[in-house]
Amino acid sequence: MAEAGLQADVVVVGLGPGGEDAAGRLAQAGLDVVGIDGALVGGECPYWGCVPSKMMIRAANLLAEARRVPGMAGRSTVEPDWSVVARRIRQEATDDWDDKVAVERLEDKGVRFIRGWGRIDGPGRVVVGAQVVEATRAILLNPGTEPWAPPIPGLAGLPYWTNHQAIETEVVPGSLLVLGGGAIGLELGQVFARFGTEVTIVEAADRLLALEEPESSVLIESVLTREGLSVVTEADITGARHGAHGFTLELVDGGVSAEQLLVATGRRSDLTALGVGSIGLDEKARSISVDGRLRAAPGVWAIGDVTGEGAFTHVSMYQSAIAVSDILGHPTAEADYHALPRVTFTDPEIGSVGMSEASARKVGLSVRTGFTDIATSTRGWIHKAGNEGFIKLVEDTGRGVLVGATSAGPVGGEVLGLLALAVHAEVPTATLRRMIYAYPTFHRAVEAALNDLGS
Ligand SMILES: Cc1cc2nc3c(=O)[nH]c(=O)nc-3n(C[C@H](O)[C@H](O)[C@H](O)COP(=O)(O)OP(=O)(O)OC[C@H]3O[C@@H](n4cnc5c(N)ncnc54)[C@H](O)[C@@H]3O)c2cc1C
Repeated sequence: MAEAGLQADVVVVGLGPGGEDAAGRLAQAGLDVVGIDGALVGGECPYWGCVPSKMMIRAANLLAEARRVPGMAGRSTVEPDWSVVARRIRQEATDDWDDKVAVERLEDKGVRFIRGWGRIDGPGRVVVGAQVVEATRAILLNPGTEPWAPPIPGLAGLPYWTNHQAIETEVVPGSLLVLGGGAIGLELGQVFARFGTEVTIVEAADRLLALEEPESSVLIESVLTREGLSVVTEADITGARHGAHGFTLELVDGGVSAEQLLVATGRRSDLTALGVGSIGLDEKARSISVDGRLRAAPGVWAIGDVTGEGAFTHVSMYQSAIAVSDILGHPTAEADYHALPRVTFTDPEIGSVGMSEASARKVGLSVRTGFTDIATSTRGWIHKAGNEGFIKLVEDTGRGVLVGATSAGPVGGEVLGLLALAVHAEVPTATLRRMIYAYPTFHRAVEAALNDLGS
């Protein structure tokens, strides 16, 4: 039976990047805040997501660059050693998956921290284990998502990897099936391949990175296959099994096997476990609907992946700032995602912002596009090995502004900054054309793509 209990102005359930940030800010603003997390304070990003995966990518990219030395700068011998990467992740990124420092940081800001799984139990009430916490002003939900696996016969219960095991691994497998050709699957697949794993990507859609521009899919498939990864698209998977020799995914037209299987087919929130039905929200929904100020129900705010507005740390943090202002009663601009940037950190990086050409046409905009190849730009030509990429611009001709853009290539995610600003601030393309672009940078290719738009 639940103990009667604790009272606070605000109860934050789930302390991912946004929840941790919000709890700290609200406490520093003078509110009495209780923060609850069943796992590690900071959430997925620092322990099993962005940070350690980018450390892996940094290491794998160093190997790729070293392998590009012949024909460019002499000779190179490359001896990959995963133990260095595993150690860096354990020691520098995750403190051996220990959040002591994060908890102290939170408590130093005045947050009362409870380790446990919180469940809403009616308006203003959260239950954690035997404890009831009453929220007098707000409940802020930031529970994130869990890896989701498709209902493939035989798959449930197999000892496959999610991102957790892939990030924690001390050894690279000899061979790896990656189920899912989205950002996480491709990033991790390319890393392991560069460390010597034989990698097969298996994707049910007709192309990799199915949410991105088709040109991105073509580019990344050609780079990955040239690096030796196998790619199966339009995979009709009829079953999965695991035995002494590893994993097999049965396909209608054959099967693929490997020592290890990484399932990277998306993520979902368990809203039933969170108890949102007790405050009138749909427990069966994929996400919690929020308004522009991140309000989900009277006295309840939600931020992060659970809102379905973009599963990125920068979205969680952006939403945190708005929700905090709203909870404090300060005036705040409403959340606006028209210039949401996202980067797939493969090599080449694929950054995009706003709408794709297809989504812009779908909402009825009159669209024209501009395209340029990075490899044939001056900087791309100088760069040579590893210079694949492109810039694609999507213009709303009615308003003469960019509504979307893709920047793929070396440092594609950095070049994206310029395009994200253009989409965000709705800078007229006429103004972008009058800008001076430094020679010979990668971002100078934006000018060529603008020229391709036509005048
Ligand atoms: C491999 C990988 C790579 C990624 N790379 C990037 C990247 O490069 N850039 C980027 O922007 N994003 C990246 N992401 C996504 C990013 O990690 C998330 O978008 C980010 O963590 C924000 O999530 P969140 O704030 O919703 O909460 P999460 O980080 O998911 O944290 C939620 C927290 O809530 C806790 N929790 C859940 N339910 C309860 C409950 N009932 N009670 C108490 N606690 C609860 C969990 O234990 C967890 O600590 C990556 C993700 C993965 C998996």
